[in-house]
Amino acid sequence: MNLGMLRLLKPLAILLATSLCGSVYDFDLIKKGKEDNNTLLVVGGIQGDEPGGFLSASLLATHYKITKGSLWIVPNLNFYSIIQRSRGPYGDMNRKFAHIDQNDPEYANIQRIKHYIQADTVKLIVNLHDGSGFYRPYFEDKCRAPNRWGQCSIIDQQALPMQEYGDLETIANSVVEYVNKSLLRPKDRYHLHNTHTKEGNKEMEKTLTYYAINQGKAAFGNEASKSLPAHERVYYHLLALERYMQIMGIEYTREFDLSPLGIYNVINNDISVSFYKGSISLPLADIKKELHYFPITKNEQLEFQASNPLMKLLETKNGYVLHYGNRELVRLLTDKFVHTPTKEKVKIEVDRELHDITFGSLLEVKDYFMIKPSQGFRINVIGFQTHQKDECDIKIHKKNLPACFSIDTKGKIYRVEYYKDDAFAGMILVKFV
Ligand SMILES: [Zn+2]
Repeated sequence: MNLGMLRLLKPLAILLATSLCGSVYDFDLIKKGKEDNNTLLVVGGIQGDEPGGFLSASLLATHYKITKGSLWIVPNLNFYSIIQRSRGPYGDMNRKFAHIDQNDPEYANIQRIKHYIQADTVKLIVNLHDGSGFYRPYFEDKCRAPNRWGQCSIIDQQALPMQEYGDLETIANSVVEYVNKSLLRPKDRYHLHNTHTKEGNKEMEKTLTYYAINQGKAAFGNEASKSLPAHERVYYHLLALERYMQIMGIEYTREFDLSPLGIYNVINNDISVSFYKGSISLPLADIKKELHYFPITKNEQLEFQASNPLMKLLETKNGYVLHYGNRELVRLLTDKFVHTPTKEKVKIEVDRELHDITFGSLLEVKDYFMIKPSQGFRINVIGFQTHQKDECDIKIHKKNLPACFSIDTKGKIYRVEYYKDDAFAGMILVKFV
């Protein structure tokens, strides 16, 4: 069989189950590589309105392979604020590390991240931010000034009295130098920014990095500029993170080209979600804003697997909405169904070749597809109309399917749904290429 024609949606890098209750969400800790005594902890999403940071951490989790060394990633520390697209619905989380009230809704999450920071194996911590304008040591103009935060590597002090990674300034300078070799434009230049926290910087005393420093951990802030589009911020964050990994002897391979376009593509096009043990899989590139009569059942614990840790499924009045970072990706307007997902294969003819297909597959079609009768299944090609009693053994071309029934904005991908005794059994997607 031509492999290009039929493919299961990309195997899910991380399996995440959702919990639909609670107002403050748990964050994820994703461990990569082989755990050792030289672990790098990368934190993204401490403030929900800084997508450069949390998208970078999530790409590190989904699209990097760690071939040597140990990497821990928290891509969505303040997940609730990310989904709310708010800096901090319960106040600035990055000011809660010196003191936090036990009744603070974020208390448990702060305790949990502190616990990871303290872990003996964690030796270096990078907290990712998107800051305003462009940090400069001397005033150049309103956007390029010492009170700006974008495009810099932040340390609280020059050094820490410890053997490994104690020379914070040298490490940060090495990151700055490395990023500056690959600038997209001269004004994006990185600088070292020492906040001299110990000398009375009351605000910085409350931050995650200063807390980490006081636990004897080398900790750095990495800032990209909010003046840049998100995928360019990610470009700079990833350059910096790759340098930190190099400094620590952590080896990696990356599954995309480290360029603004390569990054834009993986963020927006290499994403998917599946439901009911894979019997429904949705590619999310170009997904329409709303899918109607979607066969998932409301008011039951709905498990979903997302390709990305920044996805969250929330129940609404008439279905669910899938969030991805700061964006609302798709609304699933649901129907009441009983689900009996099955592992059976069904037969579909595609461009004169007969295939055995598992549910959850995406089938690429050039000319036509033809559903073959399957024992016991009722089959519904969404959008196809016929006077026959069922939809089997009819060649279906793209022109037979109105674009309003496609799941994507380009009018290429259509749903074929299988039912057994009115219970939903599985879905296959047909993509006209
Ligand atoms: Zn920030």
